[in-house]
Amino acid sequence: MGLLSGKTALITGASKGIGRAIAIKYAQEGANVAFTYLSSVEKGQELENELAAYGIKAKGYRSDASQFAAAEELVNAVVSEFGGLDILINNAGITRDNLLMRMTEEAWDEVINVNLKSCFNTVKAATRTMMKAKAGAIINITSVVGIKGNAGQANYAASKSGIVGFTKSVALELGSRNIRCNAVAPGFIETEMTAVLDEKTVQGWRDAIPMKRGGQPDEVANACVFLGSDMSSYISGQVLQVDGAMLT
Ligand code: NAP
Repeated sequence: MGLLSGKTALITGASKGIGRAIAIKYAQEGANVAFTYLSSVEKGQELENELAAYGIKAKGYRSDASQFAAAEELVNAVVSEFGGLDILINNAGITRDNLLMRMTEEAWDEVINVNLKSCFNTVKAATRTMMKAKAGAIINITSVVGIKGNAGQANYAASKSGIVGFTKSVALELGSRNIRCNAVAPGFIETEMTAVLDEKTVQGWRDAIPMKRGGQPDEVANACVFLGSDMSSYISGQVLQVDGAMLT
């Protein structure tokens, strides 16, 4: 018996990086896994096969997290195909970094819509089912940047701070229905999102982290297993930093 046996989870943006690691850990812990991707169609299909090998039900959906109507369609499809929805993980995210002076309106809107509005979209669509079941766990992936801010990432930091306020509000509103809502704030995690940065900058970051290394996607996924499982049944409204003491 895994920690998530019998539960159905929906994970957004799972074709690579942290989302992919969460999907695999969830399958290993016995959850049925629905997940989304947008541009990485092949990787999404590969993941579906990889997850199914764990003997659970798995299905990938091509769905743009930033689109309100698409989220409703997605959640309806998951509920009818899986028979319910117990855990929702909002992981889909992008960066469009630039100094404020050079940041375009499009770069601002796109990041806010993919990272923050996406959480509203799926939570709004999922709460009906979770309220009926009188149970649910929602996990939103924010970032230490959302707590501290970061030069060159005003759009990203704003979206991630927004997620913190949203998470706490959802926890307050839906607590009486036994729906928990928490955020996970990774520090520097080595994924494709961060692989585009130059090695010298990255080494500088590693050196500045008290644990002297970047984190791995699996280490964020483990926190999501805990927050999605009944092990965290009285934990809600929290922001769990997974950052090797980077922001302490
Ligand atoms: P990643 O490797 O770039 O993966 C991002 C995922 O999001 C991909 O699967 C991508 O799917 C999906 N995605 C992007 N836009 C989407 C959209 N509009 N609709 C649906 N899916 C979409 O990034 P990552 O490093 O794993 O990051 C995952 C989350 O952790 C993000 O929210 C990020 O902000 C957060 N985070 C990361 C770090 C870090 O150091 N890596 C630190 C703090 C927080 P497609 O490729 O199919 O489009």
